Amino acid sequence: MSSLRRFFVEKIESPLVIDGEEFRHAVSVLRIKEGEDIIVCDGSGLEYLSKVKKINKKDLEVEVLSSAESDVEAKTDVTLIAGYLKGDKTELVVQKAVELGAKKVIVFNSEYCSSYMNENKLARLNKVSIEAAKQCGRAIAPKVFYEDTFKGALMDGEGCENKLFACEFATSNEVDFKNLKGSTAIVVGSEGGFSKEESELATSMGYKTVYLGKRILRAETASIALLGIIMHSLGELE
Ligand code: SAM
Repeated sequence: MSSLRRFFVEKIESPLVIDGEEFRHAVSVLRIKEGEDIIVCDGSGLEYLSKVKKINKKDLEVEVLSSAESDVEAKTDVTLIAGYLKGDKTELVVQKAVELGAKKVIVFNSEYCSSYMNENKLARLNKVSIEAAKQCGRAIAPKVFYEDTFKGALMDGEGCENKLFACEFATSNEVDFKNLKGSTAIVVGSEGGFSKEESELATSMGYKTVYLGKRILRAETASIALLGIIMHSLGELE
């Protein structure tokens, strides 16, 4: 199924109609044809093999033929919780988080954050997530959420079995990567990093410190590198 074009919808209905941005992309960029087989995903992890029955002015009518569980999705839920970055660097982080298999991405504002989120930017990040999911053949395009406070972002990691906090002023690792198992939340700061108070708040909320060595990594490097380490530790890169 992987070579077929992939589209994301909110819900699989019958009859199934693809409209909006996905319709525009299908018709004007991909030049999709009536009778063509496609894959439709609703974010559940299932892939729906479907056929394009009719191309209308503003939507595609699609017939669902069969469904199957995607074998591409990570078995373990990993959530990346990252400070909002300048320019389009957060788009890069979202794109790599999707390729590496994260299930959710939360972008947050914190004391030393110097960039500000708005609705258009958040919509753009979710578009990047869908594009990245299509490119790497995933059945889930992780939703990107925004938290205007650091405490709110930390609370989003509650319920994960492992809560990790990449701290630039840590001197050792509190995490045993060799035996990492279960749902995991990873917190990485923005360009300005964290204040001591934010670090203490994370620790008080049960986050374990992650140390990535003596060099200070760029925020986007830290997010991507740490996601790679964790996905490998969880056996999700096999
Ligand atoms: N402003 C900080 C400074 O100058 O020390 C640097 C922040 S760094 C650019 C952005 C984020 O990447 C940090 O908040 C941390 O989450 C992560 N990070 C970077 N280098 C790290 C390291 N060696 N160990 C752990 N985390 C690191």
